[in-house]
Amino acid sequence: MPDIVPGPRIAIIGGGIGGLAAAAFLRRAGLTATVYEQAPALGEVGAGLVVAPNAVRLLRRLGVMERFLRRAVPLDWGWEFRRWADGSVLSVEKLSGVCEGLYGDRTYVIHRADLLDTVKAAVPGEWVRLGARCTAVDAGSDGALLCFADGSRVEADVVIGADGVHSVVRGAVAEPAPPEYSGLCAFRTIVPARSAPDFALRPAQTLWLGPGRHFVHYPIAGGQAVNVFAAAPAGGSLDESWSATATIEEFHSEFAGWDPRVTDLITAGGVPGRWALLDRAPLRHWSRGRVTLLGDAAHPMFPFFAQGAAQSIEDAAVLARCLAASVDDPEQALKRYEAARIDRTTRLQEVSRARRDINHLPDGPEQQARDTALAGSDPLVGNGWIYGYDAEEALAS
Ligand code: FAD
Repeated sequence: MPDIVPGPRIAIIGGGIGGLAAAAFLRRAGLTATVYEQAPALGEVGAGLVVAPNAVRLLRRLGVMERFLRRAVPLDWGWEFRRWADGSVLSVEKLSGVCEGLYGDRTYVIHRADLLDTVKAAVPGEWVRLGARCTAVDAGSDGALLCFADGSRVEADVVIGADGVHSVVRGAVAEPAPPEYSGLCAFRTIVPARSAPDFALRPAQTLWLGPGRHFVHYPIAGGQAVNVFAAAPAGGSLDESWSATATIEEFHSEFAGWDPRVTDLITAGGVPGRWALLDRAPLRHWSRGRVTLLGDAAHPMFPFFAQGAAQSIEDAAVLARCLAASVDDPEQALKRYEAARIDRTTRLQEVSRARRDINHLPDGPEQQARDTALAGSDPLVGNGWIYGYDAEEALAS
């Protein structure tokens, strides 16, 4: 760890995975920062995440792998696509022994709270202010004045908006653009291992594809639980809050007639969460002056490539390097950061959006063509542009 040098006063709005990763990488680069998080405690909702090699290699550089590996489950099988009605396997990628050979690291699944805890371990506790909801960013040529819900104000030389999909900071760098209604909602539930069938406890990321819907599950929490996520038509449910819930019956009704391994998992879960998935077009710029965005605040994406958190970690690593390389010219640093990141994250937003239609084809000729293509594909190699990418090396080259 380099010595901390006097540098710009960096304010990070949001203490999610992206905001804490930014603080951790800034510390590694020898800078200091303050994280302002609106919640009274750092935490994440009960749901899982896939952590692919492009993020794992950056976590390794933060020196937090020991903690990560205590809770993460290494996947032996990834993108195991199955047919909705009978569970026939459409394609599956073997990861163990192959993924690390191709990309130097394995692919893991982990509870979101465990990933947050992992990243938090690399951030000094005194850098984090809790219960601090930013309400406005008044940007000037030398920095910005931040206003908080409790009436307090803070001056910062650089502002990083890591405040998620409803970002307040976004208003300081881009024209306001309302999110679009995607027509889809997400269900999620966690099934304790004792109630889960052995099938769902395999170290596999399984995706069941059916007309208008898909259903995903994989083990998390060191194998103590199964994470379930499903995308289905939203109908009238427009609540975007991660704390919104549905009933088990509503969840069942979306997957009536599906393979019993799917419906049994729905039964075994508790009250499911359900929220509307919104769509937002990619931004053409996300930095203005001394203010920038990171993670979902900059480039929210459908979760169908399992890359949103990974991209926020990549952003964090690159942003820290850019700021450390030009402490005397933060504006230039933010421009360099945006230029290094925007094409990649825009591409991921676009492919994630396209996956929505591909995953949800009704049974028929197009679905059969998709299934034939899946059978002949190797996503582990095909997605090499995602998993093989080293964000720090790409900046240096
Ligand atoms: P957030 O996690 O939204 O954090 C924002 C933080 O800012 C929060 O703590 C919030 O309280 C705080 N905040 C907000 N407003 C303010 C304010 N005004 N003042 C102060 N604080 C504020 N990604 C993967 O890499 N792999 C996956 O497998 C994967 N699966 C997913 C599955 C689903 C169902 C979904 C919805 C997403 C998935 N993602 C996945 C994406 C991933 O969850 C997000 O991309 C990631 O959490 C973004 O992190 P963030 O820090 O940018 O934003």
